[in-house]
Amino acid sequence: MSPFIQLFRRYLREQGLPVTQQREVVADVVFNSLEHLSIEDIEADLKGRGERIGKATIYRTMEILVRSGLVEEHDFGEGFKRYEHRFGQQPVHEHLICTSCSKVTEFQSPEVLRVREEASAMRGFRPVRHRLEIYGLCSDCQARGVTVSYQGLTCPVDLMN
Ligand SMILES: [Zn+2]
Ligand SMILES: [Zn+2]
Repeated sequence: MSPFIQLFRRYLREQGLPVTQQREVVADVVFNSLEHLSIEDIEADLKGRGERIGKATIYRTMEILVRSGLVEEHDFGEGFKRYEHRFGQQPVHEHLICTSCSKVTEFQSPEVLRVREEASAMRGFRPVRHRLEIYGLCSDCQARGVTVSYQGLTCPVDLMN
């Protein structure tokens, strides 16, 4: 059994919450993935394993996992949350999010970490975690000819032309 499942079990016990097989299976899906999973993704994975677990249980389990600190919750502006194992391959990483196909690409940057440390140190701040999300079009979508549709106000100068 994954050491993360054991940590999750311990958390559930400490919180006085029932340690159920269903919760462990849901947690196992997230711990075995390096993706940024939506509730639908988790549901599909469970179906693939032949597990019949209701959405309410999945939501509740994800809520507990986020509170435990084992899983990070993301809102990439898609109208739903995505979840990621916080102790995956790249513990500290940044995100590139494609606004066309929703692909999330991770990268690591010593420069970003340096900025974090410097900006914090200058202000006597102790950084714990940070979040950098870059939105745009992935290379596949650009190759498919997708262009960015600007949503918002048009520059007044344009309106005069
Ligand atoms: Zn894309
Ligand atoms: Zn990530």
